[in-house]
Amino acid sequence: MWRICCLELPALHHPVNRTHLSKSELIMALLDILRYPDPRLHKIATPVTEFGTERLRTLVADMADTMYDAPGVGLAASQVDVHEQVVTIDVTEAQDDLMVFINPEITWSSDERAVYDEGCLSVPGVYDGVERPSRVKVRAFDLDGKEFTVDADGLLAVCIQHEMDHLKGKVFVEYLSPLKRNRIKAKLQKEERGLAREAAQRGARR
Ligand code: ZN
Repeated sequence: MWRICCLELPALHHPVNRTHLSKSELIMALLDILRYPDPRLHKIATPVTEFGTERLRTLVADMADTMYDAPGVGLAASQVDVHEQVVTIDVTEAQDDLMVFINPEITWSSDERAVYDEGCLSVPGVYDGVERPSRVKVRAFDLDGKEFTVDADGLLAVCIQHEMDHLKGKVFVEYLSPLKRNRIKAKLQKEERGLAREAAQRGARR
């Protein structure tokens, strides 16, 4: 989830045509999103080696459902505890243009940098400024293993870099000062304990 909206976006898209998905994939499945500081968010994702499989299509469809439901503009497989290099992104306001990046690689980044107020589905309720290159060129593969490149700027550039960090086990709060990071960690751990307490109370009432 991002605070920024109304940015100019590049015209290059690689939508997944859901009419091509099999019947089982049309059943919406929401995946659990890991919350910072869960140590599993720091695992390094490995490249996908088998393309065009039912398993990969289902993973991408479930990630897209989870991302749209959250709602968010990007999700890395690492965030749903699948440590493979798969990213889903949709930065359109209408949320109708899904982009899928498999084994993404940044092949060029601009010297020009920009600061965005970033947020993350794994760090709910926290937004802070992160400075990154303002333009990047990315090479990636689609679901069928076809290579493509994207020249990204604006929110898409931020989002791709943010999600690719997840694949490397990095969460955006790691760009912030240790003081801020520790505050965020303490806040989320407190919330987590509250959620666990509520769940236990619900269980006890049953
Ligand atoms: Zn994130």
